[in-house]
Amino acid sequence: MIQNLILVILIIFLLCSACETQSTEITVKPVKQEIEIFYYFDDSIQDHQTIMMNIKTVLVDVTYNVGINFYETDELTKGVVEFKYIKDKNHATVGKCDYPIVVISSGRLRIAYHEIFHMLGMQHTHQRYDRYDYITVNYDNIPSDVVFAFDIIDADNFLYNVDDYDYDYDSIMHYSSKTFGDIIKHIDGSLISSAELPSEMDWQKLNDIYN
Ligand SMILES: [Zn+2]
Repeated sequence: MIQNLILVILIIFLLCSACETQSTEITVKPVKQEIEIFYYFDDSIQDHQTIMMNIKTVLVDVTYNVGINFYETDELTKGVVEFKYIKDKNHATVGKCDYPIVVISSGRLRIAYHEIFHMLGMQHTHQRYDRYDYITVNYDNIPSDVVFAFDIIDADNFLYNVDDYDYDYDSIMHYSSKTFGDIIKHIDGSLISSAELPSEMDWQKLNDIYN
């Protein structure tokens, strides 16, 4: 009799704790917008399998982390992102435009992340208005054709609120001390290394832009 009572109490306890566990685990997921981006591989990139693989890896990662869906198309029309290979060139248009283009010649995955993040609307982290609190920039060493990539950009021209984020030395959108030579350094004089993958804050910023 006592054994039965203990069993009943045990069952009730288990049921209650199951209910409790269930109720605390239910969370409301934010509804993400359906975002679709179409892209096109130019003939120039077809011979560069590593670059194409890197691009696809980044796109899958962006779908996973931000919820943007990418579709390959064989027609280059208005709004379609063109991926192109030009020897020794890596650059991209920034944000939504009629003819978005991503030029990649490097086989490094981090370059694919960097350029695709530009295309998705991300500016360089080292171009923040408050960068001199964190880094030094030696203008004497900047090649004249890339000066624009070091100039300060107004906070209004970032697609996320710059002040919501700490200065992120680990950002995939931050140049290292090696980019284009001896130009950028940590405010304490130490070198800044290249990020190999987007930082947690990079993903948060992209989510800020799209969700
Ligand atoms: Zn860049």
